[in-house]
Amino acid sequence: MTDNSDSVTEVVPEVSGPTAPRRRLRTVAEQLSRVLDTVGSVDPIELALLDAQGLLLAEQVVADAPLPGFDNSAMDGYAVRAVDLKQATEDRPVVLPVVGDVRAGTRSVSGMGPGLCMRIMTGAPIPPGADAVIPLEDTDGGVARVAIRRAPRTGDCIRRAGEDLAAGALALAPGATLGPQQIALLAAVGHDRVVVQPRPRVVVISTGSELVDVGKLAGFGEVSDANSYMISAAARDAGAEAYRVGIIPDDHARLLDTLDSQLLRADLIITTGGVSMGAFDIVKEALSQLGTVEFVNLAMRPGSAQGFGTLGREKTPIFCLPGNPVAALVSFEVFVRPAIRKLLAKRNVHRQNIQATALERMDSRDGQREFRRGLLHREPDGRYSVSLVGGHGSHLVAALAASNCLVIIEEEVTEVVPGSRVTVQPLMLAQR
Ligand code: AMP
Ligand code: MG
Repeated sequence: MTDNSDSVTEVVPEVSGPTAPRRRLRTVAEQLSRVLDTVGSVDPIELALLDAQGLLLAEQVVADAPLPGFDNSAMDGYAVRAVDLKQATEDRPVVLPVVGDVRAGTRSVSGMGPGLCMRIMTGAPIPPGADAVIPLEDTDGGVARVAIRRAPRTGDCIRRAGEDLAAGALALAPGATLGPQQIALLAAVGHDRVVVQPRPRVVVISTGSELVDVGKLAGFGEVSDANSYMISAAARDAGAEAYRVGIIPDDHARLLDTLDSQLLRADLIITTGGVSMGAFDIVKEALSQLGTVEFVNLAMRPGSAQGFGTLGREKTPIFCLPGNPVAALVSFEVFVRPAIRKLLAKRNVHRQNIQATALERMDSRDGQREFRRGLLHREPDGRYSVSLVGGHGSHLVAALAASNCLVIIEEEVTEVVPGSRVTVQPLMLAQR
C-alpha cells in the first residue's frame, strides 16, 4: 500500500544542487535536535496547590515553622514521667492517678506534676512535665487511676517538634515534581499556592476543505476531522493544556488570520494537513513565505513531509504535521511530545523505549526510519514481543486504534526477521 504524502523524496536545501553527492534527506535525529534547540520552557507562574499536580516546582520552599509544630503523642495512651514508672512490669503494674485528658486539637495544655499522668490522644500536645507516652494497650485503660504494665524510656511515643523539618529548613527544591507526596509536604508547611512551570497552552488546528466537524454526517467527498481530537488528546497526554480550534478550510487568508489570533494565547501551535506537494497544500504555501517556518522532507515514514518553525514576535513554535492521521500521530510522538516536555521543563523529555522480539517479518526502506503500529505483548517469562497492526498506509485509523506501541525500524535496517529484537516505543498513557 502506498501513501502519497510519505513517499515523496524531495532533496533538502543544504545538499541540493548539481554538486550534491547524493540525495540525502534530513534524519529524524537532526530534525529533533533543531526542534529541541528552538523550544525553550514556559515562564513560571503561581498556581493553587492542586492545580500544580504533576508540574515542576519553580521556587525554593522553606519551612517557616518546625514540622511537627509541637511535641505531640504518637499513640493513644497516657502521658507520664518515665522516672515514675521505673518499677513497672507486666506482673507488678504501677498505678498512677489520671489528672486530665489531652485531645488532638487542644490549644493549650497545663503542666503535669510528679507521680501523675494524663490520658492523651494521638497528635495531642505533650503536657509540660511529661516525657513519655504509654500506649493504651500497655495499661488497664483506667479513667481515674490507671495501672501501667511497662517501664518506658524517656521520649517513648513522642513525636518531637521539628523532627521532620526544622524551622528554616528546605522543604522542596526547584525542579521537584509535584506528586501527591510533595503536595502533602507543601500543604503541611502551609503553602496553598506555589510557583511552578505551567502546562504549555497548545493550540490545535486541522486544515482541509474536505473536513467536517465530528458529529455532522460526512457526505461524499467529506472526511470527519479526527486529527484535531487526536492531537489535542496527545497534547494533553504529554502534559499540555490543549485548545482545539477545529477546522480551517484550504484558504490562505483564513489560515493566517486564525494563526494571528491564536498566537495571543499559544505557547505552541500544531496544524495538520496541507504540507505535501498538492496544489492546495496551503499550510506549506502560506507559511513558507513567512520565512520562519521550514518545510522539509525527512528520512522517516510515515511523516516524511512536515514543517517546523516559529511565528510572531514571541517566536512561538509551530509544528505543521501531515494530514494523514497516522503520519500526524507518529510525527507528534517523535517531535512534538519531546517539545511539550521541554516546555514543561521536564528533565527527561523522551519516552522510554524497550526491546521486544518481533513476531513477524517487518520491512523498511533503506535510509529511512520506519515507524510501524504494533501490539506489544508481555510473555509469561516477562519479556516483550511485538506484532504489527495495519499496513504501511498512514490513513488507517482503525489499525492505529488497535495498536499500543510504535515499532521503530532504524534507518540502516531493511528487514527484521521473526525472532529478532526490535525497538518499541510504548504509547502508554503518561501521568499528567
Ligand atoms: P493532506 O496532508 O492535507 O494532503 O491530507 C492527507 C490526507 O489526510 C487526506 O486524505 C486528508 O483527507 C486526510 N486528513 C487531513 N486532515 C485530516 C483530519 N483532520 N482528520 C482526518 N483526516 C484528515
Ligand atoms: Mg489537505
